[in-house]
Amino acid sequence: KSKASVEDSKNASNGIDETDKKEDDMNDLRLYARQRYLGQREKKKVEALRQELRLLEEDVNKYGWDNLTQKERDDVSLKRELVELFDKKEADFDEGYQLQEDYVDEKGKFDVSRKRRVLNNRDSYFKESKATRQQAWEEKQLQKAVKEDGTDEIMVPNSEKYDFVFDNDAAIDFTEEDDEILPEKDAEYDTHLSERLDAEQNRTKSIQEMRKLLPVFQYREELLQAIKDNQILIVVGETGSGKTTQLPQYLVEEGYTNSGKLQIAVTQPRRVAATSVAARVAEEMDVCIGKEVGYSIRFEDKTSEKTVLKYMTDGMLLREILTDPELKRYSCIMIDEAHERTLATDILLGLLKDILVHRKDLKLLISSATMNATKFSRFFGGCPIFNVPGRRYPVDIHYTLQPEANYLHAAISTIFQIHTSQELPGDVLVFLTGQEEIESARDKIEEIANKLGSGIPQMIIAPIYANLPQEQQDQIFVQTPPNCRKIVLATNIAETSLTIDGIKFVIDPGYVKENSFVPATGMSQLLTVPCSRASVDQRAGRAGRVGPGKCYRLFTKWSYYNELEMMPKPEIVRTNLANTVLLLLSLGISDLIKFPMLDKPSIASLTNSLEDLYLMGALNSKGKITRLGRIMCEFPCEPQFAKVLHSAATHEQCKGTLEECTDIVAMLHETASLFVGRSKDASSHIVGEVDSDHLLYLQIYQEWKNSNYSRAWCQDHKVQYKTLCRVRNIRNQLWKCAEQMGLVVMNETYRRKQVDFTQEINTRISKSFISGFPMNIAQLGTTGYRTTGKKSSSGLNVHIHPSSVLIEQTRENAKKPSKYVLYQRLMLTSKEFMRDCLPIYTESWLIEMVPQIFKKPN
Ligand code: ADP
Ligand code: MG
Repeated sequence: KSKASVEDSKNASNGIDETDKKEDDMNDLRLYARQRYLGQREKKKVEALRQELRLLEEDVNKYGWDNLTQKERDDVSLKRELVELFDKKEADFDEGYQLQEDYVDEKGKFDVSRKRRVLNNRDSYFKESKATRQQAWEEKQLQKAVKEDGTDEIMVPNSEKYDFVFDNDAAIDFTEEDDEILPEKDAEYDTHLSERLDAEQNRTKSIQEMRKLLPVFQYREELLQAIKDNQILIVVGETGSGKTTQLPQYLVEEGYTNSGKLQIAVTQPRRVAATSVAARVAEEMDVCIGKEVGYSIRFEDKTSEKTVLKYMTDGMLLREILTDPELKRYSCIMIDEAHERTLATDILLGLLKDILVHRKDLKLLISSATMNATKFSRFFGGCPIFNVPGRRYPVDIHYTLQPEANYLHAAISTIFQIHTSQELPGDVLVFLTGQEEIESARDKIEEIANKLGSGIPQMIIAPIYANLPQEQQDQIFVQTPPNCRKIVLATNIAETSLTIDGIKFVIDPGYVKENSFVPATGMSQLLTVPCSRASVDQRAGRAGRVGPGKCYRLFTKWSYYNELEMMPKPEIVRTNLANTVLLLLSLGISDLIKFPMLDKPSIASLTNSLEDLYLMGALNSKGKITRLGRIMCEFPCEPQFAKVLHSAATHEQCKGTLEECTDIVAMLHETASLFVGRSKDASSHIVGEVDSDHLLYLQIYQEWKNSNYSRAWCQDHKVQYKTLCRVRNIRNQLWKCAEQMGLVVMNETYRRKQVDFTQEINTRISKSFISGFPMNIAQLGTTGYRTTGKKSSSGLNVHIHPSSVLIEQTRENAKKPSKYVLYQRLMLTSKEFMRDCLPIYTESWLIEMVPQIFKKPN
């Protein structure tokens, strides 16, 4: 008890009773003083929070709540809640404070009779304006208050009896945050908010601590010096050492963006990596994604005027060169994951070699895993290689004794073997080849886990693949709770692009899906092939980041030493180059043989591409790019799709269908995650008359549009709302581009002249697609469908994918299979399947649209 209050009670004339009451009131006062003190500290934190929230709310308004990622939504919700909580507390506090004010007389002396009066008149009291009265009182008190030097005592002259409220004893309480003197309810309330505010502040602080623990941090100065001294620098380091997330931040900190006037671009081979890394860096820099730190991937540009650090796919930077050949807006380009040797990365390096000569002030960083570093250095005339030594714990490698017939099966058994026999914590990373495989593995694991029930510790299954919706991507980075094991099912994106902390076990079946040229079809196709030794070694390394780990290879040791290639084949030597060649030609690079490349594609492959482009009408017979060819480059989609849209607006046989074709093309970009559950369930609601997947997609989009893009419609029809939102965005971008090219006007002029268009519209749509994809046609023969492709190739036996509406039409509605089918993709699983099919009933359509390939039979 403070001296003054004892003294005060001595002075009281009304006896014990009155003393107790007074004591109560003193406690009240002390409490408010204390709360006010805490309140001030909280206020500062809350102000910072409020500012962040304001920026976030801007985003919410701009993009709409539904288009934010789960993480962003959580962030907004949390901040809203904290700010609201604080405001409510402030309001409560003010109320209490008001009451106190009225207990005190003009001299600042506590007056019991006043308190009684106030309490009696409480109702009327609240009707008066509180804010102004409090303000006036506060100002008055502040003017009077003097802080004595050297102590925490604040004195209000003539109020010596109450200075104890701010005395040293009380002050110590505040700083130690000893909450004992607070009433029960308030204590909970107070500390809860305080703790949460602190947690929010610590989150940012601990991120800064974590940044310093990464291996590259030790070399920060040396790296910056090396970058200053060299125009081109290759940086090599273990996965997870901080190349992708830290290096660009160092450059920003060092002033390479010239206070926001210039940008730094960091390319990634994959969309998922670009978005996820950008989100992480934005968090580290404590800014909203899309502001200072942004990303740019096809159809999605999350950058703004403010953006200084931009993560993007290598393909996007390539496209930027089309409009900004010297990359003037950048001070520094980092080609990340260069060892992946994607086609776009290889072409970028070739182009940059020339750009750097003209732009001496542009820095180029190439970051790579160890495997290819010297090759890059040689390509750039022996530029220096900066090696960041990483830490890696030993990893035990286990091989199977015999080759496994079914690696997916083997992988799932191994997961449960590990889960039931190995200690916790220790997460598992499984390398699979693609979305379908990952989803089916997830279903099986969940089924088995459900059967085993509580007999095993809990498992968290976290998939990661290119098409995984952003809001689900974050799950792989969430720290695993105790007594739990995270099972990450990943494509080779987790090989080097993404670092997942906590992995102790790696399961590697040793396969990867690669874009490869298939001579039988004359096209590139995704094929599952064995990994290289360099790849499987990288994968094993993922188990040794946090401590010693184990890697289970689902192939034999013999196979590792005798069957696997040493290095993965760069994409440029195994894929169809038509689109790339078109891009280079439109950049004015006509001598393809002389163009600098790390690995040269074969002459045959280049001629083949030129031939394809000629057949598409992108080149004339002299090999010069045509107007159509330029338009095909302008569109932000594959040239084949651009050709479809071009025909839909201009071709005599197709005109007037631009809108429909744009909808379909946009839908075809997002078919991988269109339906909730199986597509059959969803499409049966919609499939009526449609006889092709293309028209099904069109129907879905238009019905959704007619529902005013409603979420309820999606739920009723088992279609993913988010996916359709993305489709809408893609559609609008394609439409805008078509508008700029003048295609929209041409289309509408024609359409307005037509009286009854519905009759022929489907035919016209089919013809538009034939013009864009003349190579993707299969013909029905005695053994089923067989691809036609180019005359030179023999063709491949293919089947309509079970998910296609064509299956339904032939099997259930007893419709005769069409003589020809146009497919968008070939997919090899148990058989070679055609996905997204369009039946072609009349051979003459083919002859009309692409006489170069389908000549009239004599
Ligand atoms: P590198 O590019 O050298 O492979 P990164 O810069 O990608 O390394 O990763 C550095 C560290 O940042 C990793 O060790 C990881 O702990 C952390 N990190 C990266 N991305 C994320 C993320 N999305 N969430 C949480 N931590 C991340
Ligand atoms: Mg990286």
